[in-house]
Amino acid sequence: MVNVRKGIDTALANFVSGFINWNLKKGGKLADENQIKERLEVCYGCEKKGIVEPLPLVKMEGCTECDCPLATKARFTEIPVDGEVTAKKLLLSNGNQIVKCPLNKWAQIDEKYEKR
Ligand code: SF4
Repeated sequence: MVNVRKGIDTALANFVSGFINWNLKKGGKLADENQIKERLEVCYGCEKKGIVEPLPLVKMEGCTECDCPLATKARFTEIPVDGEVTAKKLLLSNGNQIVKCPLNKWAQIDEKYEKR
């Protein structure tokens, strides 16, 4: 018998680890572990948290404002630009894009960790 749940969990885990590894290889920068936790606490209390589909049939918790999965978005402070840029003002000279909450709800958290 096919274990559908296990297949879905494996697809989600593969998507998350593949996204993280690809971004790190291309020069993305990870957030501090506590910064990630604090960002996610805000997301879990946010009215925009819902379900997103980053790949066909791969559904996971995410931000419905920007359609990003929380498991990947909250982990990075910068990601390499791949294709269309969501907001030109977020572009950095190193070719990366700053990862922000689209409603600026992470501003105080990110500011706190950027000062270190
Ligand atoms: S990234 Fe911002 S808008 Fe999206 S769910 Fe998190 S707090 Fe809400």
